[in-house]
Amino acid sequence: MKHLSKNLIITVLALFLITFAFSSLLDIQPNKPETISLNALAEKINSGAVSKITVNGEDLEIELSDGTKSMSRKESETSVSQTLANYGVLPDKLLKVELDVKSPGGFGYWMGVLLPAIIPVIFMLLIFWFIFRQAKVGANQALAFGRANFRIFSHKKDKITFKDVAGLKESKEELEEVVDFLKNPKKFLDIGAKIPRGVLLMGSPGTGKTLLARAVAGEGNVPFFHLSASEFVEMFVGVGASRVRDLFETAKRAAPSIIFIDEIDAVGRERGTGLGGGHDEREQTLNQILVEMDGFDRNTNVIVMAATNRPDVLDPALLRPGRFDRRVVLDMPDMKDREEILKIHSKNKPLSQVDLKSIAVRTPGFSGADLANLANEAAILTARENRKKITQDDFFNSIEKVLLGPARRSRVISEQEKKITAYHEAGHALVAAGIKDSDPVHKVTIISRGMAGGYTLKLPIEDRRIRTKAEFLSDLAVFLGGYTAESQVFGDISTGSSSDLKQATEIANKIVTQYGMSEKLGPRTLGKNYEMVFLGREIASEKDYSEKTGELIDEEVSRFLKKAFDFAKKIILSHRPALDAIALKLIEQETIEQEEFNKIISSFKIKQIKVA
Ligand code: ADP
Ligand code: MG
Ligand code: ZN
Repeated sequence: MKHLSKNLIITVLALFLITFAFSSLLDIQPNKPETISLNALAEKINSGAVSKITVNGEDLEIELSDGTKSMSRKESETSVSQTLANYGVLPDKLLKVELDVKSPGGFGYWMGVLLPAIIPVIFMLLIFWFIFRQAKVGANQALAFGRANFRIFSHKKDKITFKDVAGLKESKEELEEVVDFLKNPKKFLDIGAKIPRGVLLMGSPGTGKTLLARAVAGEGNVPFFHLSASEFVEMFVGVGASRVRDLFETAKRAAPSIIFIDEIDAVGRERGTGLGGGHDEREQTLNQILVEMDGFDRNTNVIVMAATNRPDVLDPALLRPGRFDRRVVLDMPDMKDREEILKIHSKNKPLSQVDLKSIAVRTPGFSGADLANLANEAAILTARENRKKITQDDFFNSIEKVLLGPARRSRVISEQEKKITAYHEAGHALVAAGIKDSDPVHKVTIISRGMAGGYTLKLPIEDRRIRTKAEFLSDLAVFLGGYTAESQVFGDISTGSSSDLKQATEIANKIVTQYGMSEKLGPRTLGKNYEMVFLGREIASEKDYSEKTGELIDEEVSRFLKKAFDFAKKIILSHRPALDAIALKLIEQETIEQEEFNKIISSFKIKQIKVA
């Protein structure tokens, strides 16, 4: 784009010069006075018709007494008066003519002499410069191989701030501190506060990770260096690492600044996984990122942000303290958020009585990107039908188009699915509320949040203190809450519980085999676990117990799960009206915040019981 406009200017300039050169060479003048011979001039002087002669080099400008003008040329070697005398002008007649001799050397004269000579030279220089420049671009392209081709967003023109990001309230709150630091790093450094280094944004595709990262830069008013990690994967060995080095170097010079590494899972997959030892380039790039981040000192005012929709596959090394130790989850938008997003994306579009809320109601499961796309499709539809304003129907008719669109990875939720999910999530939440040792419910939603579709978000990497058996048991009951609610309400079970069951089973297994929490098996661990790196971090275990103990483990795991299930069932059966109320509210508004949830719970007078 930039190149194009530059070339255009040069071309126009060149054309201009050529035209100028030609016009000066050909000397096209519209009202050029007629040229007369020296003979005719001499006659005119003798007859007293000439009032003035201006001598300009060899050109003679003749002014007649009646005001008209004409031109002539004198002989080159002789003076004007000599020339005219040669042509028979009488001396006393010549005295009556005003003679004005201009010294040959004025600007016009030199231009007249030099321009025709200079123009071809300028022209050739121009061509040379042009060719040279092209060659240089080519050479740079070849050299740029090891250079980062990151994009920098200047923070003036297309500045994005939190106002441009709808919903994501909690994510924004968490990033507020980063913004604060960028605005005033000194405040933090002076007081000896540990500043954030790396922030990992996690969320499904289209939830606004890139947008939010740019908004942080916009809020902090700092340069933003954007780099997509997936570009590294196809590169030659060594190139990725040097690009990373380059990027960090540039960002440090521009500090305070933000480096944004998009799709970090492309290089940040766990190292050494997969048969064949993994991808060299990927690994080197990842290593270089880690080296650079570790090399930051206290005064490096650069914050590294990264985005991923697969935090589960990330190399744990990335998540260590001092690296991406801040994690911010971006939820899929619920109904209210969807309305807000639609509002943002139809701000500059002419709408005719469009109720954005009803569009939000009809688009559960849509991501922010889907909604932006929807608003655009509605506008396209309107334009195609030569109408001036977008109607409600344009939006509705575009929903399907967006759903079928190729870029879309999330899916829309049907009414029945919504109902099942509502009861499932209500089950989790109700059981959590009815158990003494359980964590408080922060939010219940049927829009799958961040990674897991659950009532309370579980970060993929747990950093918990020690835990008790009672806590494990209440966890188990909460995990089974969804399954239990489905079975009690519908008399049927959906596949939506499979990951809950898997996690519950894993916990139960650990209770029995790792933590010695089963009375029957006593205080011992069972089984040795190896991390088989070359099998992709599969855990291979070796039995170090008898067949009989193996059977006992099975029994105990099942017993813990059954116990948790009974517990969940007890809570759900004794508080069925509360379950219905929560589920209905979820169907209606998709999300229930902590405060509202607590209100429902206390209105049904739910007593918390302890897991035995
Ligand atoms: P991601 O990086 O998570 O895949 P993007 O940030 O690229 O998602 O989002 C794509 C587009 O979708 C954005 O440019 C924006 O137009 C729109 N969008 C996504 N989330 C939001 C949001 N919360 N508010 C406003 N627009 C959004
Ligand atoms: Mg993105
Ligand atoms: Zn569940």
